[in-house]
Amino acid sequence: MKTVAIIGGGFSGTMAAVNLARLSDESLRVILINGKRPVGRGVAYSTTRSEHLLNVAARNMSALPDHPTHFVDWLRSRSEFNTVTDAELRESFVPRKIYGDYICSLLTSYLHPIDPKSQVDLQVIDDEALDVSIQGDEATITLKSGEPVAANIVLFATGNQPPSTFPCDSPLTYDPRFRPDPWSNWAEQLPAQGGHIVLLGTGLTAVDVIVTLAELKWQGRITAISRSGLLPRPHFRGIVYPDFIPENAPTLPLQELAKLVQQQCQRLERMSQNPAIAIDKIRPYTQRIWRGLSTEDKKEFLRRHAARWNSIRHRIAVSIHQHLTDALDAQRLEILEATIESLSACDDALKVNLRTQGDEKRAVAADLVINCTGPDTRMSHTDSPLLRNLLHSGVISSDELNMGVAVNDDYQTLTAAGEASTVCYAIGPLLRGTLWETTAVPELRVQAMNFAQSILQQQERAPQEYVIEYCI
Ligand SMILES: Cc1cc2nc3c(=O)[nH]c(=O)nc-3n(C[C@H](O)[C@H](O)[C@H](O)COP(=O)(O)OP(=O)(O)OC[C@H]3O[C@@H](n4cnc5c(N)ncnc54)[C@H](O)[C@@H]3O)c2cc1C
Repeated sequence: MKTVAIIGGGFSGTMAAVNLARLSDESLRVILINGKRPVGRGVAYSTTRSEHLLNVAARNMSALPDHPTHFVDWLRSRSEFNTVTDAELRESFVPRKIYGDYICSLLTSYLHPIDPKSQVDLQVIDDEALDVSIQGDEATITLKSGEPVAANIVLFATGNQPPSTFPCDSPLTYDPRFRPDPWSNWAEQLPAQGGHIVLLGTGLTAVDVIVTLAELKWQGRITAISRSGLLPRPHFRGIVYPDFIPENAPTLPLQELAKLVQQQCQRLERMSQNPAIAIDKIRPYTQRIWRGLSTEDKKEFLRRHAARWNSIRHRIAVSIHQHLTDALDAQRLEILEATIESLSACDDALKVNLRTQGDEKRAVAADLVINCTGPDTRMSHTDSPLLRNLLHSGVISSDELNMGVAVNDDYQTLTAAGEASTVCYAIGPLLRGTLWETTAVPELRVQAMNFAQSILQQQERAPQEYVIEYCI
């Protein structure tokens, strides 16, 4: 019997396993190896806090591309939504922990299938994969526990890297005033009321921390720092807007594309509409356009446009954005646009050393510093023993931008010699350098299903449905 081993059991790996189990009509063994984070939940959906909401409306969060209403239908099984109308439920931004329950429930139904004729033997191993060696058409996975796992196919779905670290003049490893992991339980170490918390970053992770501090009724000052100084924008009520992306878009240079988008943004502004509509219209083409750009243009996009793109593209629920606006108005929250250079520990405070946009050096003293800078996107800096070993042995290689793993169109990883592997595949945020947009459920669910279909040698491919995320 063929064995497929999936390393990483967050959304991507779990849904790859679920798709193999639900689509296979032949005998198959699927082994889901997951360590550190709870299986089915990964980083995003393992939060236990109710104030951490999805940033995509429920109607666009089905885990199954061929069943677009699957998540909303599942929500109907929960009593807390009994009084919510169908229209409201589709547009709601539900707590992320509920989404984690959804993915876990999908996994459970295939781990312990009700159908006695089920062809797929699916099992979960709670362990960390450290290495994979390839002998011909077979792989052996080494686990931290020492137990080897043999497989015919290996899928890498290890998700995002942890945030990068900052230079510091003294080791901060045991300093309770610095939290390198924003998902650790920092709430137990809050400074006294009236203290000062500094967040390194102003993106979605920083927003999670800000809303949790409010939920904990912590009264003090919060400063969030990033190079762009941009907070995520709120979802909004959109309009029907014509397609403006020409057919030859994937062959255009960045400069022309940027000009095209700028013209549409200006047109929308003249119509008193949100220019983000122009960015949304690009979404169905983003991956193709990205693949068509030259390496130099990709680097230029990352340097000049990526921060703004992310703040417009990854929007947050209106209620969460209102909370940020209130905190800014009441001066409980300050946003600083500066480059974080280093940290230093003093007796009475931690210091965050900055360089401002005007090239001035400045230090901000904090009672607690939380690293919310988001995932480190440099593959060569990975601290994952698995990825380091695989890069070292040449089983995988990094993409041209050093942002993730190099793959071909079928997600087969490329060896150090540039050859497509017949054994190893990768999906999820590891494909960032190859696809750019590979972070949210609407992209990842398609990858998970396509991977399963290609392993099962099914010709069909997952429907790629892009639902523009407007509040209606
Ligand atoms: C805070 C947050 C909120 C988000 N909110 C939304 C949202 O509302 N809507 C949306 O569409 N998207 C959202 N996303 C984006 C997206 O859904 C997630 O990033 C997605 O869940 C990624 O899943 P993944 O399985 O690829 O990676 P991960 O969730 O990172 O899972 C990877 C798993 O692999 C395990 N692992 C790694 N290495 C090994 C190894 N060597 N051996 C064994 N196990 C290993 C990890 O411990 C982890 O469990 C959010 C992301 C974050 C971080």
